[in-house]
Amino acid sequence: MGCSKNLVDSEVLLSQLEKGKFEVMHDSNETDFDAVFINTCGFIHDAKQESIDMILDYAEAKKRGKIDKLYVMGCLSERYQHELEDELPEVDRYFGKFDMKAMVEELKVTYHPEYIYERKITTPSHFAYLKISEGCNRSCSFCAIPKMTGRHKSRTIESLVMEARYLAKKGVKEVLLIAQDLSYYGIDIYGKNRLAELIEKISEVDGIEWIRLHYLYPTKFPMDILPVMRENPKVCKYLDMPLQHIANPVLKNMLRHVTREETEALLAKIREEVPGVVIRTTMLVGFPGETEEDFEELKEFIEEQKFGRLGVFPYSEEDGTYAAEKYKDRLDQETKQERADEIMEVQQYISAELNQQKIGKEFKVIIDREEGDFFVGRTEFDSPEVDGEVLITSEKSLKKGDFVTVKVTGAEDYDLYGELI
Ligand code: SF4
Repeated sequence: MGCSKNLVDSEVLLSQLEKGKFEVMHDSNETDFDAVFINTCGFIHDAKQESIDMILDYAEAKKRGKIDKLYVMGCLSERYQHELEDELPEVDRYFGKFDMKAMVEELKVTYHPEYIYERKITTPSHFAYLKISEGCNRSCSFCAIPKMTGRHKSRTIESLVMEARYLAKKGVKEVLLIAQDLSYYGIDIYGKNRLAELIEKISEVDGIEWIRLHYLYPTKFPMDILPVMRENPKVCKYLDMPLQHIANPVLKNMLRHVTREETEALLAKIREEVPGVVIRTTMLVGFPGETEEDFEELKEFIEEQKFGRLGVFPYSEEDGTYAAEKYKDRLDQETKQERADEIMEVQQYISAELNQQKIGKEFKVIIDREEGDFFVGRTEFDSPEVDGEVLITSEKSLKKGDFVTVKVTGAEDYDLYGELI
């Protein structure tokens, strides 16, 4: 039910249970199982509701004798274990976010921490997420994540390179580096940021062709990754950095510890240092106190900056957060949603305009699947599941994970059309 960071935990659990001779499946629509684990999300209201609905569905299946044991894990369970135990007693056991050993042993399987990097890859086999740390030391006032994940804990460079080698042996060519906060990598265990070094080390792993960076934070940005992105051909010129907002009064209330001026300077520096880089960002609208002027300022900023990729969330008040305690959530849901829709409308135009400029150009593309008359793939500027795709016509048969060169022949708001070169 959760994000890619949760998915990695699920993949570790699947692999441990498979070692214990369990036949394992991920996100199956079947219902006949000895045991079901639901990996929940506790991020925002809608995500929580989806997780609870899934628990209720499987509680129903258990009542009908379709499954023997029902277990819940992940962020929602980490945060609300006792409330859930009271309200949903049908669940056999609730686990937190860091209970891998207990979950494995619950099924009478020996836990193998030495194989923690061995995962059952559930993404298409040519790309996989690599979670480089857990937790977050930031204090964004709207965010409950640190309450579920705890403080920032980096994994060692050695263990991550070992995992990258394991993934490469399994056929993975594209690794997506993920964390709550990629910008903080290494500071807790090495006393300094070693993200640039980690990226270089992973790029030395045979078989890994693309390295993609997600969830960077604008403050204390690790500038030394920029020359690596520019010089190292294996590092996608793609950078995901949620900014949340740009109006200084809103950034202040969000406790983002960054100003408009600092953000603009950073973006200019990134684009100067890494020519052609595509930046993905995420915005949050409808935050308490966000005025019409603040919102207009955000829209103008997005029009100026022309981000390659952009997502937006309407503010969701999360109990226990600084914002929930300090600020009255005055804007109604409708207004928040209207603002979010307006931002996506602006972005749709920008994306269409940027895509038009790609017609006639050639790009290296990784093939994800075949669909109808097309082979569907992505350029280095497209992250799986969140960004646009390239629909390719080709006489020649292409297979998942192939890298091909494509000439763009047409463009839509988000997707491109192309022919094999
Ligand atoms: S950086 Fe901010 S928004 Fe992201 S997980 Fe940490 S506290 Fe939450």
